[in-house]
Amino acid sequence: MNFLEERIMKDGVVKEGNVLKVDSFLNHRMDVTLFDKMGEEYKKRFAGKNITMILTIEASGIGIAAVTALHFGVPVVFAKKTQSINLDGEMYTAEVESFTHKNVNTIIVSKKFITPEDHVLIIDDFLANGCALQGLIQIVKQAGATVEGIGIAIEKGFQPGGRTIRNLGYQLESLAIVDAMDAATGTITFREQ
Ligand code: 5GP
Repeated sequence: MNFLEERIMKDGVVKEGNVLKVDSFLNHRMDVTLFDKMGEEYKKRFAGKNITMILTIEASGIGIAAVTALHFGVPVVFAKKTQSINLDGEMYTAEVESFTHKNVNTIIVSKKFITPEDHVLIIDDFLANGCALQGLIQIVKQAGATVEGIGIAIEKGFQPGGRTIRNLGYQLESLAIVDAMDAATGTITFREQ
């Protein structure tokens, strides 16, 4: 088991509805020492790639992406889920259905912060059905930039997102892939990687 799988076994809670709760270390309280190890691991897995920026989505991806960015020495842009008066100028947008909230969000990135010359590493906390990733990929495409790779903390391998994204030809690196989990017993089975 790797460091993230060990932490999930220790502190993750399996909820009904195929939800894994990891809010004690990943997406509410944030263990930045763990994020630092994750960043180090992404740097290894995407070695040799010319990455110029990291793209993530608010809110839960931001912490992991920010610490990972230190390992790559590049800026982080996060897609916003709400129009704000601070968002001026032209924007790229995509529609994303939320797995956890079951609603549809328009995600927004300012055209100023992603250019055709960019080589983008996309980072997010979870991969379930892949809607969040598809939205981020769409934004990179609209900008004429290149997706160099995708780094995920926890992929739920029993949901279709991972297969879909790999079939599209992207280098998708998930630090932990959960192949099965059971809310009644609390058991979690990881895919051998
Ligand atoms: P997808 O778009 O791939 O269906 O879902 C990805 C998004 O839904 C992630 O950004 C994450 O915030 C949320 N998500 C999906 N599954 C889970 C889960 O099991 N636990 C938590 N905490 N968030 C999840």
